[in-house]
Amino acid sequence: MLHTLRKVFGFHEFRPNQESVVRSLLQQRDVLAIMPTGGGKSLCYQLPAVLLPGTCMVISPLIALMKDQVDGARSNGIRAAFLNSSQSPEERDEVMSDLLSGKLDLLYVAPERFILSHFREMLNRVQLSMAVIDEAHCISEWGHDFRPDYLSLSDLVSLFPGIPVAAFTATATHRVQQDILDKLALRNPLIVRASFDRPNLSYHIRFKESVEPQLISLLNSNPGKAGIIYRTSRKSVNDTAAMLQAKGFRALPYHAGLSDTERKKNQEAFIRDEVEVIVATIAFGMGIDKSNIRFVIHADLPKSIENYYQETGRAGRDGEPARCTLLFSQGDIPKMRFFIDAMPDEAERQRALAALSKVTAFASTSVCRRRTLLDYFGERYPHDNCNSCDICLGTREVVDVTLESQMVLSAIVRTEERFGATHIVDILTGSQNKKILDFGHDRLKTYGVGKGHDKKYWRRLIDELLAQQVIQKSEGLYPTLFLLSKASRVLRREERIDIVRMLEKKTEQLLTKAAEAPHTTELFELLRTLRKHIADEQQIPPYVVFSDRTLHDMAATLPRTAEAMLTVSGVGEVKLQRYGQQFLRLIGRFISD
Ligand code: ADP
Ligand code: ZN
Repeated sequence: MLHTLRKVFGFHEFRPNQESVVRSLLQQRDVLAIMPTGGGKSLCYQLPAVLLPGTCMVISPLIALMKDQVDGARSNGIRAAFLNSSQSPEERDEVMSDLLSGKLDLLYVAPERFILSHFREMLNRVQLSMAVIDEAHCISEWGHDFRPDYLSLSDLVSLFPGIPVAAFTATATHRVQQDILDKLALRNPLIVRASFDRPNLSYHIRFKESVEPQLISLLNSNPGKAGIIYRTSRKSVNDTAAMLQAKGFRALPYHAGLSDTERKKNQEAFIRDEVEVIVATIAFGMGIDKSNIRFVIHADLPKSIENYYQETGRAGRDGEPARCTLLFSQGDIPKMRFFIDAMPDEAERQRALAALSKVTAFASTSVCRRRTLLDYFGERYPHDNCNSCDICLGTREVVDVTLESQMVLSAIVRTEERFGATHIVDILTGSQNKKILDFGHDRLKTYGVGKGHDKKYWRRLIDELLAQQVIQKSEGLYPTLFLLSKASRVLRREERIDIVRMLEKKTEQLLTKAAEAPHTTELFELLRTLRKHIADEQQIPPYVVFSDRTLHDMAATLPRTAEAMLTVSGVGEVKLQRYGQQFLRLIGRFISD
């Protein structure tokens, strides 16, 4: 096992749970493994597929992904192929004939093929080593991604009683887990439920003030790195992508309103490292295997914690550090409420509301982000401090704004709760505009008391008071602000108002501290260019050639010989033979320069 791990995959140790799954399959025992994205599920079946005689059949719902998976396996010298509707009859015939003559370690097929009786008959003439079901939660109606085609997999065990069946998924509640076991009729399976924690992801929530400059500053702190920016609407996706392009970033949009061709083209450009940034609605991500996504930014509030976990989960599959930033403003909540209120189905509306209140709580509280995420999945985080979220890094501070809040409340009271936020801010900051003068509001006691802060500050405070349910906004075209019962307690100083503020400086310090030595970064960039060059020549995604982790490892350890190259994580014998010389030459030149 360890020998193959090293020789074929170039890895020196198993990730958590991989070993027990591999061992179980080698002993012909069924498996259900629930492991997070990036947990290394493919290796769990690819390794036994190499060791066991016969072909391992992998049923996978994502046709778009099959080619990448096959390319990935082949890049390690594994004999892999796929069968699906995207191929010509000739291509399919060739795969069939390889399959029948025992020339394949791995065969990927879509579930709809497994239903076909002639395909099943053909499988009877093939020596199968095991059957793997990827995205196994698709078999459950309780899951979020039910696919009726998957129900046909219930026949698997009875059709092929002599081989082990392994089911993999990244998301399964306990209910879905039981459903998978029942539907597939797994026989005394090994059940692995890995932790949902993604230790290489760091989570940061920032106050959303002005999206454009904030995005630009975030991109500038990740120069040249691949990342996804999620936005809610197609329009904001287009606008943000155009804005970034205008500022010189290589960014492309992705949403369901684009033509198939354009979506595909943009996705491909991102996967192949031709553009760094994809600005997308949540339509983007399913079936993206790209392992070197270094950041995910949510420029708008995600729909639910589950969405947030999945969307951020696309970062850092290779195990290298990746950053997840959510720009949060209380002001986003009414927009989401608007869509939810328009939902025709009452039950669906209630679910959406509950989900919204959970994400809002997640973003507003000062509890470790990681702990909150894991809590959501019913898992207890065993440490006090995760050291990689904005809360644990202490990049926020709590500020008492009771006095300022009283000024706002008093301005609202003195104008008899008849005005909106803009006017209240104008009063506080002592504006001389016509409306103020017409109403004689420049004679109010609160007029100009808030001059010490700018308008943005007061806007934000009003948002905060709305969020903390001290005040409320009326319905209608010209919403006015009015006080809730909590307000009188604040005015009497019986209750205090705190806001949480980001300490930008400290964040930046922490970021720079984590940065690498300059020469390593320089070499890493050169290695990356070479990787891109090779990938283009072979028409495969760059991360299939080598992962970011492998390149970092090379840049840090500077291998000079083939032997030393083999000790780099992710360099197996086939990759050494294919790419070793080119990378060794580049490193040699870099050192002697
Ligand atoms: P999943 O399908 O669970 O999301 P993958 O199978 O795509 O995860 O693996 C994620 C990344 O981790 C890949 O780049 C893979 O090469 C790498 N990987 C898998 N197992 C190991 C290991 N034992 N050591 C180092 N890297 C690994
Ligand atoms: Zn934390």
